[in-house]
Amino acid sequence: MRKRTLRELDVRGKRVLVRADFNVPLENGRITDDTRIRAALPTIRELLDRGAAVILCSHLGRPKGRVVEELRLAPVARRLEELLGRPVLALPEVVGEEVERRLADLKPGDVALLENLRFHPGETANDPAFADALARLADCYVNDAFGAAHRAHASVVGVAQRLPAAAGLLLERELEVLGNLLERPRRPFWAVLGGAKVSDKIGVIERLLELCDGLAIGGAMANTLLAARGYSVGRSLYEPDQVEPARRWLERAGDRLLLPVDVVVTERLEPGAESRVVPADAIPPEAMAVDVGPATLAAWRERLQGAGTVFWNGPLGVFEVEPFHRGTFALAEFLAGLDAVTVVGGGDSVAAVRRTGVADRIDHISTGGGASLELLEGKPLPGVEALPDAEVAS
Ligand code: ADP
Ligand code: MG
Repeated sequence: MRKRTLRELDVRGKRVLVRADFNVPLENGRITDDTRIRAALPTIRELLDRGAAVILCSHLGRPKGRVVEELRLAPVARRLEELLGRPVLALPEVVGEEVERRLADLKPGDVALLENLRFHPGETANDPAFADALARLADCYVNDAFGAAHRAHASVVGVAQRLPAAAGLLLERELEVLGNLLERPRRPFWAVLGGAKVSDKIGVIERLLELCDGLAIGGAMANTLLAARGYSVGRSLYEPDQVEPARRWLERAGDRLLLPVDVVVTERLEPGAESRVVPADAIPPEAMAVDVGPATLAAWRERLQGAGTVFWNGPLGVFEVEPFHRGTFALAEFLAGLDAVTVVGGGDSVAAVRRTGVADRIDHISTGGGASLELLEGKPLPGVEALPDAEVAS
């Protein structure tokens, strides 16, 4: 069922509480990547254009229910001011009398930002009293935080149950693109998975094996599958307790499941460390597989060339350590040039795509790592479930 969106919400002259995902990376108080802030701008601008006063809220990091000075949202407020070209009132607290007093004279066109939601223990607990306190600040509620939609927190679920609520433009687009992958992907539909652990992504692997015409697996995850095939993986990162399920996938998927045919191995995981390419069934006992090799990339390119849709999650190697970024970067560039619907999800995968500079040639870069995987796995997202269904046009 389609959820009610911003367009179907009467916001003129109203105070609208917007749950955004401003969980940005910070270094010494400076924002190193403002992608998530930019992603919320369309919804904020739309609300302001339609005569609403906007009260923004977000979490940042994991302060665990207490005030952590380094995790204040003030840097986000300053960045928002630059991007919006108007003042943003940064509040020193999340809820309470002081906040209510300072929001009292908010006018249409004004923007305020509450303090880090997770400074309050009621946020992650979805505490009813905290949800009440948040709801008291506004007349209606818009959820634009796809990255938090898989969390049953007060600002995601509790408030949605207390105020007239709708999905923001970003959330709407994420649900549409990822929903299309589940319901009507342009075929052939391929997925490429990588990253550190099979155990993080078992549900997604099983679901994608059903949905996709083919699945290519790289990264440390592939080491577990190579072990399931009976190959020795040396000192590579892999999960012995996942070898059994991996064996079942190998049987079930046959030639729809692509594994690396060659890998880059090293004995030291350090920048510029000595490395070489070996066949996937000849990983030396003292070596670690840290990237896919060139023959793997060539074989995958050939199979994925005619794809109608490609979903990618998880780096193909330890891309943070040069030169083991090569496989991951090569895949990003290949996808950018592909005549297919391309969708990338996952924090590290998205970071890798941005570093290659091809992000604008990928059709959809999801802002939610965990949320995008849970959605593909078929799990209901609490933040989406909490929103009212759209009215059916008569
Ligand atoms: P995402 O955030 O895109 O979902 P993950 O968090 O699942 O991705 O995995 C990313 C991590 O996987 C990276 O830190 C990367 O170094 C690691 N990784 C990928 N391939 C390997 C490998 N062969 N050996 C060890 N770590 C790997
Ligand atoms: Mg990650």
